[in-house]
Amino acid sequence: MMLIHYAGNVDAEEHVTEPPRNKRGRPRKQPVDPNANNGAENFVPEDNQNESSSATDDELIIEDGSGQANQVEDKGLEDVEEYNSDELVSGSDSDEDDPIQGKFPTFKQPRKMLDYKWEVGTYFGTKLQFQHAMRTYAIHSGREIKFVKNDKLRMRLECRGRGSCEWKAYCAKIRNEATWQLRQVSPYHTCSRSNKVKFLNSKWLGTKLEPNVRENPTLKIQDIINKSNEKWNIKLTKTKAIRARSLAFDAVDGSFREQYTRMHDYCHELLRSNPHSTVKITSTPYLASEDDLQDPTANLNPHFQRVYICFKACKDSFLKCRPIIGLDGCFLKGYYGGQLLTVIGTDPNDQILPIAYAVVEGETKETWAWFLDLLVNDLGGVAKCVEYTFISDQQKV
Ligand SMILES: [Zn+2]
Repeated sequence: MMLIHYAGNVDAEEHVTEPPRNKRGRPRKQPVDPNANNGAENFVPEDNQNESSSATDDELIIEDGSGQANQVEDKGLEDVEEYNSDELVSGSDSDEDDPIQGKFPTFKQPRKMLDYKWEVGTYFGTKLQFQHAMRTYAIHSGREIKFVKNDKLRMRLECRGRGSCEWKAYCAKIRNEATWQLRQVSPYHTCSRSNKVKFLNSKWLGTKLEPNVRENPTLKIQDIINKSNEKWNIKLTKTKAIRARSLAFDAVDGSFREQYTRMHDYCHELLRSNPHSTVKITSTPYLASEDDLQDPTANLNPHFQRVYICFKACKDSFLKCRPIIGLDGCFLKGYYGGQLLTVIGTDPNDQILPIAYAVVEGETKETWAWFLDLLVNDLGGVAKCVEYTFISDQQKV
């Protein structure tokens, strides 16, 4: 109080002769005012700014004592912190909340994203699609991109590549829609390509390996590491490769298992769409172990064993063809293996006519006998089949 009072007197009496004293006097009281005002201009809403700028020094001190000013100041400080934290991460505030108006493309995942050019305004169907696209982009282009913000409404990414790369991207959800829009993205990187991209995780790699595992159930870890090095120029750790392969196996195994559970549905559909055909499916009871019996969640359903299919149209066609029947079997290269047994005839144009086929657990005397028994029944019984010529292993004839 005393200081302010004194400074006020100086201002009033000797404003011309003693400017230095003014200068000297002011810094002692002004550090409170100007800072508060400058700060207010930056971050406090206009109402608050008016309040603080219109308040005199005396009032400020009095309010300090009463506690009301504290509330205002606290409020202001909270705003400062929130705003500043946003400012640091996000750039301009208006860009974040308002969607960019205009016609923009909807994102379609390209096969290669090595030099992909992002377009501001691009729409993404879901947040997951955006995440996946960014992950693929980071891996294909070898950039050390990182999520710095990832919540239900916004996603912000920065590049942590060498040479303090300035690359940034920002995507936000459009209100009341599932759609996300790319609001900001830097045009280029100043970093160089890296061969350690954290975005390449085992989950992402697992989905990429699914087709390989489907074709080759004995896929080797070293092959996965080599392939990742060749394809994306990224060094993969052994642990990551093992985890990725096991995830891929689980996905493939799960999908195959699911398909086998639909075998009865499939056979019913075959019979519905091909009346008077023969479709036979057999199963083996599941041999439950002690542990399975203890576990209430264990799956004790019977296992698929064999299926035999002979279409009515094929059967009828064969009866008008030459009485020669070729038998053959081949391995099924699928995840669960097994054997395919086929019976073919030759039509008047010397073309192959399939008569019947079966999927069995292996090519044995028993499975062939089971298959031929069913076939003989379909072709009019033993008496009729005696007239036919059977040739085994047609390829060698
Ligand atoms: Zn970069």
